[in-house]
Amino acid sequence: MRQGLLWLSHRQGVFNFVRRNGLARRFASRFVAGESIEEGVAAAGELARRGITASLDLLGESVTAEAEARLARDQYLRMLERMAASGVEVNVSIKLTQMGLDISEPLCVGNMTAILERAAALHGFVRLDMEGSAYTQRTLDFFRRYLFDRFGAHCGVVIQAMLRRSEADIEDLVAMKARVRLCKGAYLEPAAVAFPEKADVDRNYVRLMERLLLAGNYPGIATHDEAIISHARAFVRRQDIPTDRFEFQMLYGVRRDLQGTLRQAGCRLRVYIPFGTQWYPYLMRRLAERPANIAFFLGNMVRESIPGR
Ligand SMILES: Cc1cc2nc3c(=O)[nH]c(=O)nc-3n(C[C@H](O)[C@H](O)[C@H](O)COP(=O)(O)OP(=O)(O)OC[C@H]3O[C@@H](n4cnc5c(N)ncnc54)[C@H](O)[C@@H]3O)c2cc1C
Repeated sequence: MRQGLLWLSHRQGVFNFVRRNGLARRFASRFVAGESIEEGVAAAGELARRGITASLDLLGESVTAEAEARLARDQYLRMLERMAASGVEVNVSIKLTQMGLDISEPLCVGNMTAILERAAALHGFVRLDMEGSAYTQRTLDFFRRYLFDRFGAHCGVVIQAMLRRSEADIEDLVAMKARVRLCKGAYLEPAAVAFPEKADVDRNYVRLMERLLLAGNYPGIATHDEAIISHARAFVRRQDIPTDRFEFQMLYGVRRDLQGTLRQAGCRLRVYIPFGTQWYPYLMRRLAERPANIAFFLGNMVRESIPGR
């Protein structure tokens, strides 16, 4: 099931069909804050009132035309301004393939430099999302070569616990004092590069998380896994790590109950808010993570098709 959904996430024809479907759009609105910058920033403002910070993500990836990459850059520049103007913390997440990495490296460097210059001037932060394993080395090289030396405190990367290489990557990033978001990994990967068993991914997550909590630079613990979150909270208590030395991170619309619990307990929490018209691959990855979401989706479809409702 998971493999099928992740395969479907790449099918543009299916997206064109789904995007015209009102029910699918309504379902997507559970995980996606809308299609416009205004809606994304409004969602961040709403969270800020509940003491939760945000990272805004303009949905889009694997861009193949230069003009499209430049348009995405301009939209990110507008997002930064709108976040600053509305008084929410300036924090965005970006995929390098959306900025033209597959078209030409200089194009991508130009786009990312423009965004980081503006973000730094606004005292903001830019996170490079991590894509499939074909991009891991390229993303880390790009970060180190073009961004980290120049913009250090204003940028960070993501490491996926599902990848076998991640322990070594974490060591490099800890040595650099670079900021890391740790997640499990959302892409379909071959066993040669990733742990096929979820139990191994979870075990690796805990190992890498402990390392980051002890030695990392303000790590982002990005998971909705209650057992791992409880483990993290017990670990920081035992190690006397102050709650302002790290943050938990979760996705918009996922485990809002747990988000509230963490805030009430005084933990820092950031919510990743995706928005934009290109929501289909993102939605398919969220469905693949939790088959119960498909039941929810189908249940709604059946309910809405009953006449008189
Ligand atoms: C802030 C943030 C940023 C991320 N950035 C990246 C990135 O750059 N690259 C990348 O590859 N991945 C990224 N991810 C996705 C991540 O890799 C996982 O695919 C996703 O978070 C699900 O894993 P989990 O840690 O929540 O654990 P899981 O074991 O998958 O889930 C644990 C529990 O969380 C709940 N849950 C998880 N997912 C869902 C869902 N979709 N709907 C409803 N409930 C759910 C369920 O209760 C589930 O039992 C990010 C995740 C977060 C939170």
